[in-house]
Amino acid sequence: MVTRHVTSRGAVDPTGRIELIIAQAPELAPWLQLYREVLALSAHPGWEDAVASIALATDRAADQPLLTGAAIPLDRALATETLRRLLTAASDQPTEDASATRAASHAAELGAPFAIQAAINQDAAGLDAAAVALDLAPTALAAIAHLAAIPLLRAAHRALATAITPDWGQGYCPLCGAWPAVAEVRGLESTRHLRCGRCGADWTMPTLWCPFCGEHDHAQLGSLRAEVPGGSHQAETCLTCRGYVKTMTTLRAWPAEEVPLADIASVEWDLAAMEREFARPDRSAMPLNVTIEDAV
Ligand SMILES: [Zn+2]
Ligand SMILES: [Zn+2]
Repeated sequence: MVTRHVTSRGAVDPTGRIELIIAQAPELAPWLQLYREVLALSAHPGWEDAVASIALATDRAADQPLLTGAAIPLDRALATETLRRLLTAASDQPTEDASATRAASHAAELGAPFAIQAAINQDAAGLDAAAVALDLAPTALAAIAHLAAIPLLRAAHRALATAITPDWGQGYCPLCGAWPAVAEVRGLESTRHLRCGRCGADWTMPTLWCPFCGEHDHAQLGSLRAEVPGGSHQAETCLTCRGYVKTMTTLRAWPAEEVPLADIASVEWDLAAMEREFARPDRSAMPLNVTIEDAV
């Protein structure tokens, strides 16, 4: 029997949801165990301290995300501990080269702030350089650095959500510039909300509008669709850019920590879309140029 973990707000808490997903799809356990570590690390008050002193750029263009050009002071010890704990957790997994990730965990203090900065900026060259510094395979570090950036980005969203342009209108995240992880078709009004899997931002976009290339010619837009208990589930596809976004009906907004879980729990839709030669964009929408500085 599967136990539901219910929080005081009535939602299923993320830890309980992780257990449910692992029970249904054990092959997802390695990533989910790392994500559980991210949730534990997110409770550290140092993330709120970092974003309390954030310096936003004042010369952003209207279509640039809020963090573009921002300088974020971050406690080096917290960055190091975050990267080290994720590397250690990965080294415990049979899918990883344990000796490599264990060695890298000892070296994390050399490059943790830079690795987190490169992940926030979706800077592939920067992540490659950080991987060389840590003597790790670039793909292994990129996955972990992306997770290590989440606590800081979520804290930034909590602190800065009210500063986000309300009528944003772009397909990428208004705070951190990531492409949407998933879309919600929410509530009785069926409003389409795109959700960021990193910072948790939530922004609206009209239906039948491709978030990746702006296509809104209905003839170019389609969907792979199925009815599931409690609503429908689909991948919305674009013939112009071959992009797709997974879309789920929801009654109310997912909390930020639920967004990556909704994404990974619907991996069969990624496979269905990829079989038809649709793909998520493999590059960021525009450079973010965030700088992580040593907190003094
Ligand atoms: Zn974001
Ligand atoms: Zn498109």
